[in-house]
Amino acid sequence: MRRFRFIRNPVATDIGNNVEEFLRILAGPSCIFLEGEDSSRNRALVTLLHGNEPSGVMALFRWLKSGRRPAVNVVCIIASVVAALELPVFSHRMLPRARDLNRCFRPPFEDAQGVLAEEILEILRLHHPEAVVDMHNTSGSGPSFGVCTHMDRQHDALVSLFTQRLIISHLGLGALMEISEHSYPTVTVEVGGRIDEEAHELAFEGMCLYFERDKVLDEGDTDWGLELLRDPIRLELNEHVTLTYAEHACDNYDITLTADIEHHNFGGVTRDTLLGWADGPERRLFSAQDAGGRCAVTKLVRIEDGKLYAAQPLKLFMITNNTAIAHSDCLFYAVSDDDSTICD
Ligand SMILES: [Zn+2]
Repeated sequence: MRRFRFIRNPVATDIGNNVEEFLRILAGPSCIFLEGEDSSRNRALVTLLHGNEPSGVMALFRWLKSGRRPAVNVVCIIASVVAALELPVFSHRMLPRARDLNRCFRPPFEDAQGVLAEEILEILRLHHPEAVVDMHNTSGSGPSFGVCTHMDRQHDALVSLFTQRLIISHLGLGALMEISEHSYPTVTVEVGGRIDEEAHELAFEGMCLYFERDKVLDEGDTDWGLELLRDPIRLELNEHVTLTYAEHACDNYDITLTADIEHHNFGGVTRDTLLGWADGPERRLFSAQDAGGRCAVTKLVRIEDGKLYAAQPLKLFMITNNTAIAHSDCLFYAVSDDDSTICD
């Protein structure tokens, strides 16, 4: 089954007048090949793995409209076009009941999302890119950051085209970054909140550098001054635990998180920072695993007198204020705030 549509060097006048028209023209998962000044090398851009994360495809549309030519060939993979077009546009991470596409990059590739993921891996394999950038938005507002499984000069250089913050993660979720990484330097770039103008701008500026620089890897011993965050732990909700967001405890829910919790993104929380309200024990409500597979719930959160606090100084990120994402994915990611791995 071949579901991707292939388009080569699209003309600026043929791609619609705005990003929504562009997506309607694409109509489904698409691969746009842009021939570069140096056509002996390929780079890949993957975006819209999640249909509610518009910055990458907006930036690509803007770049295509500018009529520029990239330094090397660029293979642009635009995945969840159908989910993005589901009304209201850019509101669906995936179609109802479908699996999260960025958890499908490992066998079995059986359902529709698995087939799509397998085809993306096949397109990458065919083009053998010198680098892969997978561009996302966070669901809540917050600063940009990169994620990779492996850190070296090449990954540092790649991430620094977009942002100054890098998370090194070995979570093994079936994300594109984890799989593609075995063959090509791959980074996920979270350009910021899905409705933030700054995120759209950062996506575009980074994309211009990524497309137009002759070299995006291996810049010698340059110190990029990246802030590194290692081995984050995901705080997840247990099955059948109810959650809401409010400015005070809501009795009908197991957990109430503070309405402004996303303001803690990358800011650092202490043992006294109120995250919300809940009645313990912590392990009944939450689950979390450290890199060694051990339960880490009580290293992340503690409940005292019906109030929920951080268990130790932490840096939190990817904090969502969307209950659907909190249930299906996680509440937030956390690293210890003294630049070390969370451990006993
Ligand atoms: Zn995403």
